[in-house]
This record gives sequence, structure tokens and C-alpha cells, in this order.
Amino acid sequence: MKAEQSFPKPFIIVSECLGFAAVRFNGQQLNDHFLQTLAPYAELRPICPEVEIGLGVPRMPIRLVDINGEDHLVQTSNENFDVTDKMIDFSKKFLSSQEKVHGFVLKSASPSCGTSNVKVYHQGNKPSVERKTRGLFAAKVKEKYPDLVVEDEGRLKNFKIREHFLTAVFTLARWDLVKASGKMKELVAFHSNMKYLLMAYNQTRMRAMGKIVANHDKLTLENVFSAYEIELRETLAHLPKKSNFINSLMHMAGYFSKTNSAAQKIFFSEMMEMYRDGRIPLSSLILLIKSWAIRDEEQYILNQTILSPFPSALLELSDSGRVIEL
Ligand code: SF4
Repeated sequence: MKAEQSFPKPFIIVSECLGFAAVRFNGQQLNDHFLQTLAPYAELRPICPEVEIGLGVPRMPIRLVDINGEDHLVQTSNENFDVTDKMIDFSKKFLSSQEKVHGFVLKSASPSCGTSNVKVYHQGNKPSVERKTRGLFAAKVKEKYPDLVVEDEGRLKNFKIREHFLTAVFTLARWDLVKASGKMKELVAFHSNMKYLLMAYNQTRMRAMGKIVANHDKLTLENVFSAYEIELRETLAHLPKKSNFINSLMHMAGYFSKTNSAAQKIFFSEMMEMYRDGRIPLSSLILLIKSWAIRDEEQYILNQTILSPFPSALLELSDSGRVIEL
């Protein structure tokens, strides 16, 4: 059997306190298991926005406060110590300086890095929380990269979110190689191999991307690649629906309708139900289909990205831990 394909390393910007340096306000750092596992397979770029704007370590904590209808990043104990403009300036400059980025893993709940659910306090001495939003740095990240996956370490503890994150960043890293080749045949092969993954993410976009690759309008190669990339990034920016995955897996299973026994088909249907009910992860079904493709030497299916969207070492660690016997 063929050894696992090699994967280009995705470029991922990460909050520095998640295991890279003791830069938290209290002089500590956190150890993030997911990032430790990912490190050998990716180019991780740690950054601490609060240190970059000169706040130092340790430092007085800061928080978001609604001042006259606008979110301000201020010292918790002194609202006159306002670093909002500094943080906005730094974020814009830093993000503009990044040539290649495929995703972000930021620290949850931080007024700078938090990707959601960051507390915004009432102005003055009232300790109450007015609402929740993104941290200031994270908000600039989403503005600059609306079509990239921006996650926090808390959400990545959910295996569905982790699988989606890994699929998106490794696919975009592979796409960069295709783009760099500038060859139509590479694009055709990439799209062919992506068929069932794209179907699982968004069937409408999959068809639109097929039309781009067919290039009936005789666009320049540059325009074809550019149009394809827009669709690809937009497709991968959203968590796929389980029903779409089920549809895609059913199509793939169709390749084995002649070679699978009645008992195997029943077993597959039962597994689909278990997946639908959330009792087994997607990877269990993927492995089952892969085992049929190996058995039947069905190369078109074996080439499908959906079978191995990212290195298998990450899949093992990313899974729910339930084992399915094939
Ligand atoms: S959450 Fe962001 S700003 Fe705060 S310590 Fe971590 S990297 Fe620095």
C-alpha cells in the first residue's frame, strides 16, 4: 500500500501565550495540546499583540469597555489608560506584513485575541458586562481575512471544529502549490481530487468551481486561478453541514455497489445512522470507504482529498476516541 502522501505545511498565526512564551498579563503561559501536536506539521507564527504594543510582562490586565458607544481597550483599573488606537495600528501593520497565512488559532476570551464571547463592560465603576464581542486584534484579523478559519483554542477542543480547521488550512496550503505551478493540468487534478470534499462542503460551489475549471469563456490562466481561489477560500471558510457530508459519502459508496455484499451495505447504512445521531465521528465512515477503495484498487476514490485532508497523525489525536472495527 502507498505510504501517506506528504503535506505542505500551512502557515498559521497563533497567540503566543498558547505554549510559545510566558507573555500573559500575569507572566504565565498556557500549554495547548492541539498546537503542540500540530507544530511538526505546520509553520506556526506566534504573536502577542499586547506585548507588541509595549504593555510588557507582567502588566496590569486590560479589558474592553463601551465608552460612548464604542469599544475601547483600557486598563481594568484605569479607563484613562486607553490602548485602542495602538492595538488597531499594530494589528493593521502586522497583518499587512504577512505574505502567506492559511489560518489562525487565538486565545479565547482575551480582550485582544478572543474570537468571540469577549466581555464588553459598562463604562465607569459598574462591574457588569454589557454584551459580548471579539477581541480587538481578532476583529482586525476577521476584517482582513473574512475567508480564513479563525479559531480559538477552546473551540478547537471540539473534534468537528478541529477537523474542519485542519481540512481548511491543509487544503489551502496545497492550493498554494497548485497556484505556484501555474499549470492548468495541476488545477484540473486538484479539482478532480477535491470533488467529494467540495461536495461535502457546498455542492453549489463545487459545480461553480467545475465550470471555472472547464473555462468555457476562455479566460486567461491567471483569471481562472483567481476565480477558483475565491470560490475555494469561501467554501472552506464555513463549517460544513453533516447532511452534506452524508450526501457526499453516499455518492462515494456508490462506487462499491457491485463489490460490497448486502451485509456490508447494511452495515454502512447503520454507520451512517450512527454518524447522523452523533454517535460516531465522520472519520470512522471515511476509513470504511477508504478500506473499500484499497480492496478494489479504486484509484479515483483513493485520490480523493476527503480521505486524507490532513496528516493522519492529527486525525488520530483529533478524533473522539471511539474506535470502529472495519
Ligand atoms: S491572549 Fe493574546 S494578547 Fe493576551 S497574552 Fe495571549 S497572545 Fe498576548
